[in-house]
Amino acid sequence: MNDVVIDLRSDTFTLPSEAMREVIARAAVGDDVFGEDPSVNDLEALAAQLTGKEAALFVASGCMANLIAQMVHVRRGDEVILGQDSHAVLHEVGSGAAIAGAQYSVIPGNGLFTAAQVAERIQMPTFHTPGTGLVWVENTHNWSGGRIFPQRELDAIGALCHERCVPLHLDGARVFNAAAATGLSVARIARPCDSLSFCLSKGLGAPVGSVLCGTREFRASAHRYRKMLGGGMRQAGILAAAGLFALKHNATRLVEDHALARRLAAGLAGAPGLDVDPNAVDTNIVLVGLNRVGADDFVLRCQRRGVLCLARDPRRVRLVTHLNVDPREIDRAISIMREES
Ligand SMILES: *Cc1c(COP(=O)(O)O)cnc(C)c1O
Repeated sequence: MNDVVIDLRSDTFTLPSEAMREVIARAAVGDDVFGEDPSVNDLEALAAQLTGKEAALFVASGCMANLIAQMVHVRRGDEVILGQDSHAVLHEVGSGAAIAGAQYSVIPGNGLFTAAQVAERIQMPTFHTPGTGLVWVENTHNWSGGRIFPQRELDAIGALCHERCVPLHLDGARVFNAAAATGLSVARIARPCDSLSFCLSKGLGAPVGSVLCGTREFRASAHRYRKMLGGGMRQAGILAAAGLFALKHNATRLVEDHALARRLAAGLAGAPGLDVDPNAVDTNIVLVGLNRVGADDFVLRCQRRGVLCLARDPRRVRLVTHLNVDPREIDRAISIMREES
């Protein structure tokens, strides 16, 4: 193995900086199960403010946030309408079905869909059909390559849901990337949504944690389910302090990750073994098609030369830029990937 590793597998591999570690070390803490951790309370207040929601709840992970959102919104057997290749469909171990009792009604395509497609699927419960319990949008959409959900469509979906009395949840694991890329605030993006989750542990660079936001009533219910799932944490301020630091210092810098992703895509485009569309790079994720080698083979070849990435499917890999890679490393990754394809 190479000693200098360029890790493009995910923005979850970001490490806490020295400055973040100092904030963690000094964090004011208390028992958050009793609501007495000042750092958690500060984080939740800031998250509510940034997302334009009444209240927020700090949770262990994005998966936990998404599961709790389903537990609050969905009655057992209800349908959740969401896009194909959503994280909740592919990568949450079936928790929506196993624990929240949700049944998924999946809209085919790349995970970005229209209000008209949602309208076709919304249904009232009858004595032999499930009713629609929730509509679900993922922004940015991870598996389609960090694509931004078109705001006009998201607004239209919100209006439709409101009219049909169906709640709308935003899986905003990377919604701060969408905000940085579009110039819209997270509050503006999430305005049509009843609830949203976002990850502190991805591009924002905190070691652990996600936040679930919504009305005060939503939070009260979510708080009970968090406890039910064993997610009540005591001196969680150690983690919340890192999250506060991440929101204050690492949200606006996400545009740098996006510039690196564009640089990466432009550098890989045109290589005969690779199929990259620089115009499809909205944020910090680049999907790369492979014309000559299989994805698993390509991942191994690159790994031997110190560049890490993940297979997205047998013919494609996913590359993610983040705060622990710099332009020189991106250029090195470009030449290695061109050679190994
Ligand atoms: C990463 C991710 C999650 C889950 O977050 P974890 O903290 O890894 O549980 C949910 N949704 C999307 C779109 C993600 O990318």
